[in-house]
Amino acid sequence: SVAQRAVAADVVQTLRDRGHIALFAGGCVRDELLGRTPKDYDVATDAFPEEVERIFPKTVPIGKAFGVIAVIRDHQTIEVATFREEIGTLDGRHPETITFSAAKEDALRRDFTINGMFYDPVHDELHDYVHGRRDLKRRLIVAIGNPEERFREDHLRMLRAVRFAHTLDFEIESETEKAIQAMAPLIRNISAERIELELTRTLTESNKAGRALKHLHKLGLMQQILPELVPMDGQEQPPQFHPEGDVFEHTCLMLDAMNEIPQTEAFTRRELAYSVLLHDVGKPPTASIGPGTDGKSRIRFDGHAAVGARMAEDILIRLKFPNVEKKRIITAVAGHMRFMDVRNMKASTLRKMIGADPFELEMALHRLDCLGSHCMLENYDFVRAYQEKMANEPILPKPLINGRDVMNLGIAEGRTVGRILKAVYNAQMEDQVRNREEALAWIREKYL
Ligand code: ATP
Ligand code: MG
Repeated sequence: SVAQRAVAADVVQTLRDRGHIALFAGGCVRDELLGRTPKDYDVATDAFPEEVERIFPKTVPIGKAFGVIAVIRDHQTIEVATFREEIGTLDGRHPETITFSAAKEDALRRDFTINGMFYDPVHDELHDYVHGRRDLKRRLIVAIGNPEERFREDHLRMLRAVRFAHTLDFEIESETEKAIQAMAPLIRNISAERIELELTRTLTESNKAGRALKHLHKLGLMQQILPELVPMDGQEQPPQFHPEGDVFEHTCLMLDAMNEIPQTEAFTRRELAYSVLLHDVGKPPTASIGPGTDGKSRIRFDGHAAVGARMAEDILIRLKFPNVEKKRIITAVAGHMRFMDVRNMKASTLRKMIGADPFELEMALHRLDCLGSHCMLENYDFVRAYQEKMANEPILPKPLINGRDVMNLGIAEGRTVGRILKAVYNAQMEDQVRNREEALAWIREKYL
């Protein structure tokens, strides 16, 4: 934000007043040159961490061992990092040794040239040791130094390359890309949490998330982090419903169309992205085209949604999703074929579907399912029209009677009471009974 930039410039000025070198560093420099709003401003300096702590009254030692101190000023947090050099790695995750050094060395330890620049806000001067400016102009993601070495040092950089390419709409330079292809299996050594974070940012911050997924597939990264998705590629579908082609193509088209779904409080972008990503993961690789065995294709479709929900659950557990979110996503996956039937549903079934969480997520998934295939939205529009028609009454009304009322009619406590309550509630939602008296009469007639 503008406020954060002002505070960061102030932090730079303060360090300079004490005789230090201080510069904006990394992502914020890249974003400003691109005319994008940086997520946050980072400062790099030759001052040691202890010195930074002495200079600023309010600090938090967030990564003191590698020289990162958070400076808090005017309700803003600026990360101030001492210029450092990082050497080697044993595990593909953490550097082996860290030495404090100068700006040039600090540039060389960064991942990509566009992320390796410094900017001096006092003199309005770019410090570019790695040709970051050139690659911004060429719109290329280029590893700093030898790409294979850099990806061996830190495997997560492979996913970062894809994320930056697709959130900025850049290409990955060919040597860098070849190195990712060669090293892709190493990504399995990275923790699920860090993989999920990069994958989520790639899918939710890109304008063409489907294109990003295809790129992960082409580079061999998808095969490592989401092997369950591989059979979707080449999995043919009934052409009358899916003129676009196989299941993978269909899913990618849906991911690409996600930005046509407006932001809402009802679900997060992450929930939508993973619902789309996984909705057809259960399409059986050997399924034949055409109607199911009993002549009603719906039966087989129900099957793939249910299988898919179970597979989705395993994947989301592996990616360490929080339980609530996991449940919402698998509910959307499991239920996504119900939209085929909405125009023939009993009012009670439809109302329960609309009234259940996470219905808005399911609607968005269904809309994308149509947009990524035959583009026919009559079922979607039917539900919206129904909701409009029902706008003046609760979609799930307050029950007219309770269990006590049923037992007062002479029905013994037990499972039957619950079953009758359910039936009379359905009758209420279908407008067969409109008040308490009608509800009791309805029960007498049916059950006594
Ligand atoms: P954004 O915050 O928008 O995701 P960013 O470029 O600021 O993008 P951060 O993850 O915040 O990315 O990292 C800040 C900077 O630190 C990067 O610009 C890059 O110079 C460096 N950096 C981050 N992660 C790595 C890494 N794994 N290897 C090398 N350098 C890295
Ligand atoms: Mg950042």
